[in-house]
Amino acid sequence: MKILLVEDEHISRQMVKKILLKAGHEVVEAEDGQAAWELFQREPFQFVITDWMMPRLDGPSLVQHIRSSDQKSYTYIVLLTAMDDKDNVVSGLESGADEYLTKPFNNKELIARVASGIRILNLEEQLIQARQQMEQLALHDGLTGLLNRRAIEEYAEAEFDQTSRKKRPLSVVLLDVDHFKSVNDKYGHKFGDHTLRRVAQLLTGDLRKYDRVGRWGGEEFILILPETQLQDAIMVAERLRSRIADMKLSLENGKQFSVQISLGVACTTGEFPSLQKLIDAADQAMYRAKQTGRNRVCSSESAH
Ligand code: GH3
Ligand code: MG
Ligand code: MG
Ligand code: MG
Repeated sequence: MKILLVEDEHISRQMVKKILLKAGHEVVEAEDGQAAWELFQREPFQFVITDWMMPRLDGPSLVQHIRSSDQKSYTYIVLLTAMDDKDNVVSGLESGADEYLTKPFNNKELIARVASGIRILNLEEQLIQARQQMEQLALHDGLTGLLNRRAIEEYAEAEFDQTSRKKRPLSVVLLDVDHFKSVNDKYGHKFGDHTLRRVAQLLTGDLRKYDRVGRWGGEEFILILPETQLQDAIMVAERLRSRIADMKLSLENGKQFSVQISLGVACTTGEFPSLQKLIDAADQAMYRAKQTGRNRVCSSESAH
């Protein structure tokens, strides 16, 4: 573990450093709280061992500085103190330190305290990872890995608000796999799932920075294309249509087949009263694509 060691007395600093190095830790030294704080701002440390009484900035003040900085990961802080009266210990811990050691301390105890701090940091790391996994699960569709309906709706709402305020174009593309029921019926549900994953992969293939694609429902997907005029969105939709139609899916027996999609496109430059109405327009266009032969793109404009 890389430890920031803050101690104004050179001899005791070297002594603690030696113990830490011997236990396999890496040590960065600071000669007082101020020097430590400057180092910390350049490079946050996960572990700090700091003396209490120091010129310029003392231990508890350094702890407060660290705690009020908005660093991403937690810093475990051990206060070293010659003062062992309980009031001082309490105020040290209240400043935000995790642990304290009274000088003179036992070498083994120092190392044990560092080890227990590292265990806590590891637990913290595991919690963060678990939370990230939960967030990933809450926002993404389990089958395709795309944003799920709730997440894409949230993104679309935010973009719609922007668009309404700034009168900038926002396009929505809804698409649905043609005769997908027969894919399941002919090749089985597992292969149907595989097909949906491949379609999802292709859809995410060449999106721009602010474009998003989500799984809208069963075999229906949605694209949110900010700053995109209707004509450009139609081009995007047409490109996806032809790429999906060209995509070869291989069956277990080596035979190949392909699927097709029908797409509906709608665009607003601020005239739609709600996101729902915009999506409805794309949905109606998609319905027309189905009605007029499938494997095609219709836009809300082509209705007029
Ligand atoms: P259309 O061209 O009119 O869209 O016909 P379709 O057969 O695609 O439409 P329909 O709505 O009748 O059938 C959709 C099918 O998609 C039925 C449903 O079982 C299947 N489906 C929905 N979600 C999944 C999924 O996650 N995995 C698989 N394998 N199939 C799914
Ligand atoms: Mg001191
Ligand atoms: Mg379908
Ligand atoms: Mg459908």
